[in-house]
Amino acid sequence: MIDYVINNMIKIDQNKCVGCGLCAGQHPESFQMNLDGKAEVINSQETPGAQKAISDCPAGAISSVK
Ligand code: SF4
Repeated sequence: MIDYVINNMIKIDQNKCVGCGLCAGQHPESFQMNLDGKAEVINSQETPGAQKAISDCPAGAISSVK
């Protein structure tokens, strides 16, 4: 059973990302670091973990869009 609504998509603004690695370290199911040292989305579903990454990102680089 899916306990969350999959409506929005997770995105990362590469210009805002400071490469701290927090999102990829804590939510590897959704994010990874690329060769430029920036985070990228590998699963754009808005899971609870991804929602937490949005609130925890120190640069405000992660967002949820419809
Ligand atoms: S938490 Fe934010 S600033 Fe840090 S790597 Fe992820 S997107 Fe970039």
